Amino acid sequence: MESVRVRFAPSPTGMFHIGSARTALFNWLYARHTGGTFILRIEDTDAARNKPEYVDVIFQALNWLGLDWNEGPQPDGTVKGDKGPYCQSQRGAIYKRYVDQLLSADKAYEFEGAIKFRTPKTPITVPDLICGDIQFDRTNEPDLVIQRKDGSPVFHLVNVVDDLEMEVTHVIRGEDHLSNTHKHLALIEAFGAKPPRYAHIPLILNPNGSKMSKRDVGASIADYKEQGYLPEAVRNYLCLLGWSPKDNREIVPIEEVIAKFDLPQVNRANARFDIDKLFWINGEYFRSATLESLEPLALGILRKHNLIPDDYDPAYFRAALSIVKEKIKLGRELPEWMGYFFREDFEFDPAAAKKVFTPEGLANLVKLHERLAALDGKSFTAAELEAEFKLLAAGSGQKVGALVHPARLAVSGRSVGPSLYHLLEVLGKDRVLGRMKRAEKEFSTPTA
Ligand code: GLU
Repeated sequence: MESVRVRFAPSPTGMFHIGSARTALFNWLYARHTGGTFILRIEDTDAARNKPEYVDVIFQALNWLGLDWNEGPQPDGTVKGDKGPYCQSQRGAIYKRYVDQLLSADKAYEFEGAIKFRTPKTPITVPDLICGDIQFDRTNEPDLVIQRKDGSPVFHLVNVVDDLEMEVTHVIRGEDHLSNTHKHLALIEAFGAKPPRYAHIPLILNPNGSKMSKRDVGASIADYKEQGYLPEAVRNYLCLLGWSPKDNREIVPIEEVIAKFDLPQVNRANARFDIDKLFWINGEYFRSATLESLEPLALGILRKHNLIPDDYDPAYFRAALSIVKEKIKLGRELPEWMGYFFREDFEFDPAAAKKVFTPEGLANLVKLHERLAALDGKSFTAAELEAEFKLLAAGSGQKVGALVHPARLAVSGRSVGPSLYHLLEVLGKDRVLGRMKRAEKEFSTPTA
C-alpha cells in the first residue's frame, strides 16, 4: 500500500485562523492515524499579501497546538530529515519548468505578457472523500492565468505543482477550495500525472450561522494562548469541529482520536463554533492537568500582571495553584484568583464588605482571630480549621456561614475563591491572623 503523504499549506497573511488550525489538525491526525507523513508548506507567492514575519505566526501556532510536521526544522530547534518545511517563494525554478512544459506542449500560451492555460471545456466530476462526487460543467470555463505579467506563478499552478513534486497522496483542506479543484485536476491531467485524493472539510460557522471571519470571537489561535487556554483543550475542541467519537463524549484523549480518525467520517455539514463548549472543555483540562504542567502557564500570567514577587516561595505558589486550579476554567482568571496570595494590601470587594463586615461579622472575625491565634502553627490544617469553625459556630449558636464569609473576605478581599479551610491552610497562620487584624481595623467604626 502507498504510504500517506499529506500537507498543510497555509499562506502567511497575518493571524492564524481557527479554520486553518483545524485543517492542520485534520491533516496531522490523518498522517498520525495512517503512519504517514505530514508536510508543512508555506504558500507565499503572493508578495502583496504575504509577509515573512507571518510565517513565524504559523510556526508558533502549530507548535503551541502540538502539531509537529515530519520534514524540516521544528520551532523548538530540532530537525527532522533534510527537507522542508517548504516555502514556495524559494521554488520559482521548479514552477518555471512546469510552465515551460505546458507551453511546449501547446497546453498553455502567452497572452499580453501573462501565460494562460487552455482549460478543458468538458464536464468533470471531482470525487471527494468527504463531500462525495461533485460535478462541474466547465462549458464556459475561461482559460486560466498560470503566470502573471511580472513572471510570478499563480496559486493554482504552484499548489498543483507542489502536490505533485511532494508526492502528496491526500489533499485535506477547507471547503472554500472545493470550487478550485476542477482547475487543479485539469492541470494535473495536462502534466500527465495521477491526482491525489481530495477531502474538503466543511466550514466553521459562527453560532448565528454566518461564516467565521478574522474578526469574530474565537477566530484567532494566538488569542487562545493569550487568554490562558490550554493547548490540549483547544486541540480537543478543534477535533470536535467536524469529527466525533460517536458516543457524545467531548473529552477525547488525542491518542484515541489518532486511533479512530478517518476521512469518510468527517461530518459533511458545516461545524458551528461554540465558545461555551470550548470554555467548559478547558475547565475540564484545567482540573485534570498536573500541577507541574500548569505552573509555567500560571507563573507567566502572574508575572505579566506583576502579581508575583521575583523571590516568591515556590512551595507556597504551588500550594496556592493547587487549590485554585480546581475552581477556574481559564488562565485569564488567575490574576483575580491568585493575586491576593502574594500581597497584603489587596483591596476588599466593596459590595461584599458592605454585606459581610457588619458589626456582627466583625465581632465574629475578632472571635475567630482569638481562636485561631490559640492554635499552634502545626494544627493550621484544613481539617483542624474546619473543626474549629464548627465548634465556634456551635458554641455561639450561629451557622458556620456567619464565620466563613467574614473570614474569606478578610483573608482574600473576595467573596468567592477556593475552599476556605484549604485557603487558610495554604496562607498559613501568620498571614491569616495579620489579614484578619487588618480587616478588623479597616472596617470597625471607632466608638465615639
Ligand atoms: N494556501 C492555501 C490556503 O491557505 C492552501 C490551499 C490548499 O490547501 O490546497 O488556503
